[in-house]
Amino acid sequence: MKSLIVKKFGGASVGSIRKIESIAQRLSEDRKRGEQPLVVLSAMSGYTDSLIQMAHKVHPHFQGEAYDMLVSSGEQISISLLSLALEKRGLKNKPLLAHQAGIQTSALFSKAHIESIQIEKVKALLKKKVMPLIAGFQGVTKQNEITTLGRGGSDLTAVALSSALKVKTCEIYTDVPGVFTADPRLVPKAKKQKSLSFSEMMEMSYLGSKVLQIRSVEMALKYDVKLHVRHAFKKEEGTWIINKKEGGMEGSVVSAIAHDLNTLVIKFNKTPSGVNFLSDLFTELGKEAVFVDIISQSAIGAPSRLSFSIPKTDLKKSLSVLKKLKVEKNISVINKVAKISVIGVGMASHSGVAGRFFSVIKKTKARLYLVTTSEIKISTVIDEKSLKKTARALHKEFNLY
Ligand code: ASP
Ligand code: MG
Repeated sequence: MKSLIVKKFGGASVGSIRKIESIAQRLSEDRKRGEQPLVVLSAMSGYTDSLIQMAHKVHPHFQGEAYDMLVSSGEQISISLLSLALEKRGLKNKPLLAHQAGIQTSALFSKAHIESIQIEKVKALLKKKVMPLIAGFQGVTKQNEITTLGRGGSDLTAVALSSALKVKTCEIYTDVPGVFTADPRLVPKAKKQKSLSFSEMMEMSYLGSKVLQIRSVEMALKYDVKLHVRHAFKKEEGTWIINKKEGGMEGSVVSAIAHDLNTLVIKFNKTPSGVNFLSDLFTELGKEAVFVDIISQSAIGAPSRLSFSIPKTDLKKSLSVLKKLKVEKNISVINKVAKISVIGVGMASHSGVAGRFFSVIKKTKARLYLVTTSEIKISTVIDEKSLKKTARALHKEFNLY
């Protein structure tokens, strides 16, 4: 199967009937050029969100079989519609739900892990020159229960199928031309990247970029599948996510800037001292599945200080934990903040990056709440008002134009 290519189309690229028709047209042209596409689809844009909202209206915190059965249904609609559009063009195809395609997962509802794929059925279709159209995001347990793979999970479906079929490239089609040096809505001069390393892309997904689901990038690295992120309605090349040591743009230390508005800071005005409290606090937050991001704690001198950041969406759960621990009166919630990060594999081998980063913060007078670093990133939580100017100034400082 020389020309076999896995092509995943995201929600925005199948967001209307007109767009589905365009995808069908593109696929029939691919076919004429000798390619043999295997297609993975997301739900039409906004569809999964509205299914989730309906579920929440009926039963706010429920997660389990019924929830996954509901939220996975958007993909059933998009593959069926694309199938009709391909039929109309005389292209042999077969829409498959995850259970029909043999995508078996763990029973961890809403964040299931793919355990195996019985790839024979898909291979048999390809052999007969029938184009498989596979519903992304879904799986099925050994007991035949429907599961889902976490938000953005159709990327994972596409990478898992690429690895099961041993194809080396997986194309991810979206409504932007590729991965940018920063979000163009924030930094209008942001540029499309030619390529990024897997670790840079993982940091970007983790730090707020919505382009690729982080687990799909991890899997692509593990199974050596190159990802090509590109525009669904343009022919030009997009951004390649590949295995490489050097940074995104030649000679640059920093490859990209990421930001995330879904963050807030919980600051203790008075912290109960001792490590016991920290252990209780973070254990209880963990039990409630609160995603604690950056923690800053200093025990030097009295009183000790503690702040940490969480997604805005986890505030309610966090407040009930703080109440349970009887510390809800000791804290302030700082709401109008944003996380801004610089990322680059080049940072690991260059010094002075932190100095340049904080000089920018000094110049933009951003208010700084939390800082964390790794070998290839510096990440800070600052006041939301300063986000735009700080992003632009960092973009300039690190020569990303
Ligand atoms: N439709 C699912 C979601 O919105 C999966 C995906 O789009 O990849 O999260
Ligand atoms: Mg997506």
